Amino acid sequence: MALSGIQIYKMLPQTNCKECGFPTCLAFAMKLAAKQVELGSCPYVSEESKKQLAESAAPPIRLITLRANGTEIKVGNEVVMFRHEKTFYNKPGLFLRVKASDPDLAKKVAAADAYKVNYVGMDFTLDGYAIEADSDLSAAVKAVRDVTKRPLMLIANDVTLLDSSLGLLAGEGTLIYAGDSSNYESLADVAKKHKATLVIKSDSLDDLADLTQKVQAKGVEDMVLDLGGKNLGEWLTRSTQARRLALKSNFKPLGYPTIFFAAQNGVEKEAVYAAQAIAKYAGFVVLDTFAPEMIYPLLVLRENIYTDPQKPIQVQPGVYEINSPKPESPVLVTTNFSITYFAVANEVEGSGLPAWLVVTDAEGMSVLTAWAAGKFDAERIAKAIKGFNVADKVSKKRIVLPGHVAVLSGEVEEELPGWEVRVGPREAVDLPAFMKQALN
Ligand code: SF4
Repeated sequence: MALSGIQIYKMLPQTNCKECGFPTCLAFAMKLAAKQVELGSCPYVSEESKKQLAESAAPPIRLITLRANGTEIKVGNEVVMFRHEKTFYNKPGLFLRVKASDPDLAKKVAAADAYKVNYVGMDFTLDGYAIEADSDLSAAVKAVRDVTKRPLMLIANDVTLLDSSLGLLAGEGTLIYAGDSSNYESLADVAKKHKATLVIKSDSLDDLADLTQKVQAKGVEDMVLDLGGKNLGEWLTRSTQARRLALKSNFKPLGYPTIFFAAQNGVEKEAVYAAQAIAKYAGFVVLDTFAPEMIYPLLVLRENIYTDPQKPIQVQPGVYEINSPKPESPVLVTTNFSITYFAVANEVEGSGLPAWLVVTDAEGMSVLTAWAAGKFDAERIAKAIKGFNVADKVSKKRIVLPGHVAVLSGEVEEELPGWEVRVGPREAVDLPAFMKQALN
């Protein structure tokens, strides 16, 4: 269980020397309890206190990192059951399962690896590949490693096979699947030898907790749990129980990320199973189907769930050129909330009409929210127009404000003498018609 500020305070020197930057040890302890400062800021903590505080500061769900040639994925380290309580930190890794015997193995992985989709300014891709050893695993590992730099997961029962294949991936952080009550000892030895992460599987949480402790006793710290479960309901129940036990009761034997195979009940239900796993705590989601029409919505769902609700997605403030604008093209103004920016930019781009789009720094808020919060006002708009030297780019000094902030037009005219201020439509979808009819 995490320590309270008072409990932490009792372990500090209590001299109020202020060297940590806080006026008292109690103030520092409170910040430490809220995880807003590092313990290292106090140079006088005893070794014994450091040990106790480090244990209490350890995340209830272990952080697992898989890595390959310069790419890595981190999962776990979560601290809340529900995103609105704080945030979810590390997105589940989306892996594509391929079979070692597939004659088109390299071609399939290369095609999936090339998949990249842009969503409100961010590039989304798959995170790695799970190779199932239904034939020569080592040859398959070599073939896959030739076409992707992403982390791998190896699925095999044969320990010798896993050992030799992991030898080909020296220096990487690989996931191996899976240890159960019958083979955990030999798999733990292989995982330890190659510094790999080991999936532990069981159909019961009790057995799983027992197994993780045994594997840990063999010197393997990095584990992932396969919770079993025959259907959506069973897996959801187990996933929720494991998360709750880890977070609320600090039950370390279940304090590991989980893995979920989305096609376990058929590929026709794969998208639904994957969506639930993303929403409800999976650390890794393994897909059997590579289909952009399924993967894109899953990636967007994942992004939405793992976006920090306190930090809106933003684009860089600046002047964006749409459809090669000329000096006489209109100047549109909006905020730097990504969805607002892309709504405006996509509508204008789709219309084929050229425009200068000035994106102001509104701390990532949409137009109305920013206006209500005082982050999108005449002063900020004028500052952006002047700061980005918009007057040097245009021959006609005319700007178009979003319709929702028509009330600002008078103040903007005062802030920007010599500029004509027009009020555009409220919705981005109406911009092309407005530009055609009102800006000629
Ligand atoms: S540096 Fe340490 S001893 Fe000094 S005030 Fe901060 S917490 Fe207390």
